[in-house]
Amino acid sequence: MPIYEYECRDCRHDFELLVHAGTSPVCPACRSVSLQKRISAFAVGGGSAATAASAPQACGTCGDPRGAGACSMN
Ligand SMILES: [Zn+2]
Repeated sequence: MPIYEYECRDCRHDFELLVHAGTSPVCPACRSVSLQKRISAFAVGGGSAATAASAPQACGTCGDPRGAGACSMN
């Protein structure tokens, strides 16, 4: 079951919600249905946004910090 992160457009409340098929998410603070869906941090791989933005993408195969595929250029 997917967990989505929302920000309420009315009261700016941030919250995560288990979304069941056929149901509409509602702000738990003010019951508004005017919500902005956000990308869940879990979907990005669990790293913090600051780390991901400052460091280049490490090679997925060997973890080489020079970048993806760097290990094959040795
Ligand atoms: Zn709200």
